[in-house]
Amino acid sequence: MPDECVFCRIAQRQLPVELLYEDAEFVAFNDANPMAPVHVLVIPKTHFASLLDAADSGLVGRGLLAVTETARSLKLDASGFRVVVNCGADGGQTVPHLHFHLMGGRYMQWPPG
Ligand code: 5GP
Ligand code: ZN
Repeated sequence: MPDECVFCRIAQRQLPVELLYEDAEFVAFNDANPMAPVHVLVIPKTHFASLLDAADSGLVGRGLLAVTETARSLKLDASGFRVVVNCGADGGQTVPHLHFHLMGGRYMQWPPG
């Protein structure tokens, strides 16, 4: 868990960020630069640089369950939502700590661009 990783610092409660969801392995919080009315990041407390580094399929699956749990708690289950994992340069990943974007509150265009 690199000291300089902002998402590790959020997960370890070293930064004053409101958590929308927390379990033993994951936390969720609002994206600082939201691209939708609801734009939440769900991250593992353990540092993985990207989806490519998260070789534990169980952890990845539980991460998606944390996303759906967060979506339900935010009342997105009726209207629907989008889950995005950007990976690497072409994927548009800017923070090198695995995170699931949970986006909702408006219709999501496809393709995303
Ligand atoms: P990526 O581009 O890596 O898929 O997504 C990174 C996301 O993290 C971006 O949507 C960006 O707005 C968000 N972000 C970056 N730094 C911070 C931060 O310090 N706090 C919060 N809440 N979000 C951040
Ligand atoms: Zn990290």
